[in-house]
Amino acid sequence: MSAGDAPNHARRRPSLKDHARGALRQRFAERGWPAYRADQIATWLYKQDATALEQMTNLPADLRDAIGEAFEVETLVVEQTQASIDGTRKLLLRAFDGARIEAVLIPEERRHTLCVSTQVGCPLTCSFCATGALGFTRNLSAGEIVDQVLHARRLVPAGESLTNLVFMGMGEPLLNLPNVSEAIRILVDPKGLALAPRRITVSTAGVLPQIAPLLDVAPIHLAVSLHATTDEVRDVLVPLNRRFPLAELMGALRREPRLNRRRPVFFEYTLMEGVNDSLEDARRMPRLLAGIPAKVNVIPMNPHADAPYRPPSSAVVDRFTAALHEAGLRVTLRRDRGRDIDAACGQLANRVAAAPSTAPDSVPGAGRPTRPDSLQGPLAGNRWGPGDAGALPPAVEAHALRDR
Ligand code: SF4
Repeated sequence: MSAGDAPNHARRRPSLKDHARGALRQRFAERGWPAYRADQIATWLYKQDATALEQMTNLPADLRDAIGEAFEVETLVVEQTQASIDGTRKLLLRAFDGARIEAVLIPEERRHTLCVSTQVGCPLTCSFCATGALGFTRNLSAGEIVDQVLHARRLVPAGESLTNLVFMGMGEPLLNLPNVSEAIRILVDPKGLALAPRRITVSTAGVLPQIAPLLDVAPIHLAVSLHATTDEVRDVLVPLNRRFPLAELMGALRREPRLNRRRPVFFEYTLMEGVNDSLEDARRMPRLLAGIPAKVNVIPMNPHADAPYRPPSSAVVDRFTAALHEAGLRVTLRRDRGRDIDAACGQLANRVAAAPSTAPDSVPGAGRPTRPDSLQGPLAGNRWGPGDAGALPPAVEAHALRDR
């Protein structure tokens, strides 16, 4: 179905996919419907890939009608799919309220990895991130997270399967923990999507109070967007650092008993020219991560129009990675994928959102972001400025302070 003839997706009811099987059984029992019907529905949705109640032929017609009055089935429509020359595919999906989100499917040698979004936009305004430039609209429901997986699974060639899932798309997953948790329960349920928990990685910018509750959900992996080795630089790149500075975050990870060599933390480190790519940074990192079971993923910056940073030269990338290796860290160098299809998080939605308006940069360079001045001098160019040090936007504060 093309975007032009996609149905007007007005959602009035919760989705069947908003609930893991246990919760759905409970909802059904509350309505006087047999709980085992929830198990049958899970089989239809996640094993048979049904997209409408009419396809669930082992359910009585009157029950299908009653379920249809209480629940939606589908939550997202595919508005656009882009294919990169390297095989990466990016889905632009539209929700019932017109919100657009992205999911990126990355084929590798023996696996297919999907990157999913958890929010429409993001409140955290990391200064290198296209999604941060979108601002924050709302959290995605569990059903909207699960539907990204179902839509992407249809793109995987017959005989192969979706093997890995990373929560690294648009949004900060730990600011939407209840829905992310429910989606994970559906994803790992043997009668649901039956993904192995160790194949799921959830990434956070460092919402410290929500890390332990996330690790309670299932034995999934944790990734932390590190991107700097000093508070001075990380305060600018990841403003959440002002609320949970490096020493506090690393201390909590060091004390977390569920992390070990088999379940390490993946530290994401996006290399940006002249910002965080020095040998001093490479030398500081082992000290910073000491005592934490860690793997470091070094990712040269994928440049885009919404951020003022560039990737370092290949020589600098190699020198940086080698220095981490020599210091005894487990390191992976990830070259970016799908550069020709705007595959950096938030780029496609940004471009589509911007399309109807008059472009501000018809004058070359106008409307382009500039590098925050604190990386050249005093802080500027970041919507979350120095006067806000220690404070978060209200929506973030409400989540981040919970359980503290
Ligand atoms: S990097 Fe992640 S946490 Fe930061 S603004 Fe982008 S989506 Fe949000």
